[in-house]
Amino acid sequence: MQPRDLSAHDEYVAGRGIEEVARELGREPDDLVKLASNENALGPSPKAVEAIRERAESVHSYPKASHADLAEQLAERWDVAPEQIWLANGGDGALDYLSRAALEPGDAVLVPSPGFAYYSMSARYHHGAVREYALSKDDGFAQTAETVLSQYDGERIVYLTSPHNPTGSVVAPADVERIAAGTDEETLVVVDEAYGEFADVDSAVELLGERDDVAVLRTFSKAYGLAGLRLGYAVTPAEWADAYARVNTPFAASEIACRAGLAALDDDEHVEGTVETVEWAREYLAETVEAPTYDSQGNFVLFEVGDASAVAEALKQKGIIVRDCTSFGLDECIRVTCGTKPETRRAAEAINEVLAER
Ligand code: PMP
Repeated sequence: MQPRDLSAHDEYVAGRGIEEVARELGREPDDLVKLASNENALGPSPKAVEAIRERAESVHSYPKASHADLAEQLAERWDVAPEQIWLANGGDGALDYLSRAALEPGDAVLVPSPGFAYYSMSARYHHGAVREYALSKDDGFAQTAETVLSQYDGERIVYLTSPHNPTGSVVAPADVERIAAGTDEETLVVVDEAYGEFADVDSAVELLGERDDVAVLRTFSKAYGLAGLRLGYAVTPAEWADAYARVNTPFAASEIACRAGLAALDDDEHVEGTVETVEWAREYLAETVEAPTYDSQGNFVLFEVGDASAVAEALKQKGIIVRDCTSFGLDECIRVTCGTKPETRRAAEAINEVLAER
């Protein structure tokens, strides 16, 4: 008996830690700048770290009330009922819950290309089929209603990413609404706002008051700096609230994660500092790096550099780790995460050196 062929998973989790790259290069991790995974350059909120420490002594006991407390806080923030907040093990976990709730075996999902890999993987894990809609470089990879609807063919889930990974383009709620209105009643439009805090566009959560066919994904991994804790959630239509109890894993998010999430939500200063750092770095990178780029509203910037794998490798040798976007189907692009000011300056200088040498 062999397990099912789920080989795509290997690629998704293959992103290596900084220690491993440092070993390969024979350097210290502190000498390297990792701008490959869109993590928070400022680290976690100090308030979240304190909450984690406080709970550390009691990890032998099962989670208690913090899950409900966090769902309530988030519900208040988004002006929805707590049952509409589907907490999960990261945004990825929330995508799995949506797949489980929406897909019958063989149902198809429609995903952007280029786009975030986990939409397809989650569909496959849940015995769904995957179709891609092509985004065009000519209009900056925009997910317009026309682009999406002209390639839609009755899929059960349609994914939009705003800001989009890896290009940084956004989808306004009015476009989400047009897309949802243009699809069948049985289609759920999932708007992935993992990078939403960095964008200058309203959240699609505002549509949930009127629509029962839109869900929004959010995460604590980016602006809140808690990627290692694995905490994310979907805001789902009111009509879907009951389904959460049937699709979630018992104790869907850990007690420590929920407490850290509550503390991080309360730390506006940290989120504001993060967003300011990102805005500075995005502008600095776009202005300084001598390569064509796209207008990004995420905490990363995409550059066209020619042979992306070769450029990423040359940067690695200089101690700068960026994302080679070949796996996104963009073999001429690298994606650079917004770092601290010193990290970002060093990365920009190294990229320019590498490009000048080529
Ligand atoms: N959506 C997008 C577009 C992402 O880039 C990521 C993570 N890189 C996620 C969702 C999921 O993030 P997490 O599981 O850490 O919440």
